[in-house]
Amino acid sequence: LVQEKLDLLKSNTHNTVNSLLEDTALDLAKKVDEKIKKGQEIGLLEGIPFGIKDVYMLQETYTTASSDLLKNYKSAYTATAIQKLLDAGAIPLVKENCDSFGHGSSSENTIFGAVKNAVNSDLVGGGSSGGSAVNVAKNYTIFSIGGDTGGSIRQPAGYNNVFGFKPTYGRISRFGLMAYASSTDCVGPIAKSTEDIRIVLNAMSGKDVKDQTTYPSEIISKESILNVDTIKTVGYFKNFIESDAISSEIKESFLATIDKIKAKGIEVKILDFFESDTLVSTYYTLAMAETASNLSRLDGTNYGNRIEGENLKDTYSITRSENFSEESKRRIVGGNQLLSQGFSDEIYLKGLNLRDQIANNFEKDFKEVDIILSPVTPNTPPKIGESLKNPLAMYLSDAYTVGFSLGQLPTLTIPKGTATGLQITGAKTQDELVLKFANFLN
Ligand code: GLN
Repeated sequence: LVQEKLDLLKSNTHNTVNSLLEDTALDLAKKVDEKIKKGQEIGLLEGIPFGIKDVYMLQETYTTASSDLLKNYKSAYTATAIQKLLDAGAIPLVKENCDSFGHGSSSENTIFGAVKNAVNSDLVGGGSSGGSAVNVAKNYTIFSIGGDTGGSIRQPAGYNNVFGFKPTYGRISRFGLMAYASSTDCVGPIAKSTEDIRIVLNAMSGKDVKDQTTYPSEIISKESILNVDTIKTVGYFKNFIESDAISSEIKESFLATIDKIKAKGIEVKILDFFESDTLVSTYYTLAMAETASNLSRLDGTNYGNRIEGENLKDTYSITRSENFSEESKRRIVGGNQLLSQGFSDEIYLKGLNLRDQIANNFEKDFKEVDIILSPVTPNTPPKIGESLKNPLAMYLSDAYTVGFSLGQLPTLTIPKGTATGLQITGAKTQDELVLKFANFLN
């Protein structure tokens, strides 16, 4: 299986691969083979080949964040989530193409070439975890580990017809994930079924002393997600569905899905929520501010492809100017401006305040409903090249994913319900309920 997947990855034309981990993968596979030959029992994940978005540390492998800046950087240690999968016997095959530092919604912001959609290769693969979603959709990996700050697991999963889960913030350790916006960064699986999502999620979850935002969680059992008796009421946001930005195709299919859910005896409530523009601007204000801060360490001194200038200041400046992409520079410059005197009270603090209001709104909603449903995106995937021409339109296309990130809620994309999938969201720490509902819809 490992050899077969390696061959597929090598010959793929979708630009999903940043680096292949061929030798390590084959060595590990041999060990599993020997165990099987000796008749020893093997675990659920043992020998299962998987992919890793190229923003996770895996010792001795390149971790480039799809950037010029880190194209020669080798991880000094291994991320907790990845180590847990290795401990369970899963076999890492590939570091996967993505938008550089997670900045993007199309996986075109990368030095490795735009990721092509699994269903129609003229379209984008989605982002930022585009390579991971396409690898799963094309069966190049059994599952992949993406990263989701504002939709980067859920949107590419939706664009490529697979499952993608952003767990509750803190369920999985972020240690060893290259930080984009630390307050919403989440580790999560992309896979072909809720059952696979459940298995991989269980393997990665848990408190980690290296990430103080993690919390202890219980294993979600196979049986527990079969019983849906606890789900009586779901809700959806009126203004998402009535917005001018939604395509008629997505709107009609979403409402048809809602009708089917009603027919199954579930009560459906229509909820009020913030306007998409408010969600997108709040998210991008905080995400840009946090990424400006997080990426300030990449100046060619400790990390990064150093380009010497006449003095230290020049070195920093040239290293960063030459090696960050246009999109990343837009965010770093924007973020630093938002944090600077005169702007921070006006804009950044307002963003923090809105985030609290959004979280309060969710708390109120989850007193009334068990699950919130929404489309993943207002539109179907654009053609390759289109998003690069219009960054603002790209930001606005994140309208339905970023709110759940700001709320730090567990949200799963399933490949049905609309052309780009359906998002199933639960209250904080209700990850099990989300998987239950997904099973129920299957
Ligand atoms: N598209 C969003 C952004 O560019 C989300 C990206 C992500 O979740 N990493 O910020």
